[in-house]
Amino acid sequence: MKPKVAGSAAKMIFALSFDQVSSYVFSRLYPPLFAIFNIILPVGIPVYYWNETLWNSFWINFVARFTITLNIAFFVNSIAHMWGQKPYDRNISPVENLAVSLAALGEGWHNYHHVFPWDYKTGELGNAYNPSTTFIDFFAKLGWAYDLKSVSKGMIARRAKKCGDGSHPQIWGYGDSDIDKEDKEELEKMAAEEKAAMF
Ligand SMILES: [Zn+2]
Repeated sequence: MKPKVAGSAAKMIFALSFDQVSSYVFSRLYPPLFAIFNIILPVGIPVYYWNETLWNSFWINFVARFTITLNIAFFVNSIAHMWGQKPYDRNISPVENLAVSLAALGEGWHNYHHVFPWDYKTGELGNAYNPSTTFIDFFAKLGWAYDLKSVSKGMIARRAKKCGDGSHPQIWGYGDSDIDKEDKEELEKMAAEEKAAMF
């Protein structure tokens, strides 16, 4: 049955949800945006501004650049499932790999990401080598991104202890029997403050 249409066209546009608008943008506008930003501009700018040949510009600025970029993105599903540490779960194939994180803008903290897939940070340390998280945090500050889901330090520590390969970073000497009484008190105070800040 056709839905009843009430009110003006303007009213209808305002009634569209953000999901409807964004799915329209992605399904309809993706091909032209891809053509403009991935082919026409990168190939055309060198030809127009410094007389590069179209042949060179096409092969280098579209074919080679796009192939390299895609392969870097695919490293997340190949290298980041092969070589690295498994601090959170040693029984699954994804690993933590700094090189992939640097190349793929933060997507290499992959053991963490598979263990806690709902965490928007896709890595325990968030902004460390993770420009994608910094990008989301920036828009969260503006209020455009919201309801971000994360994981508490306690949950991470418990999971690492239970299933990790032992590579989860620990404070050196923490809990050692020969640690200073004062140092121990200070560490406990820090941990309590951190915990209070999380919840
Ligand atoms: Zn994966």
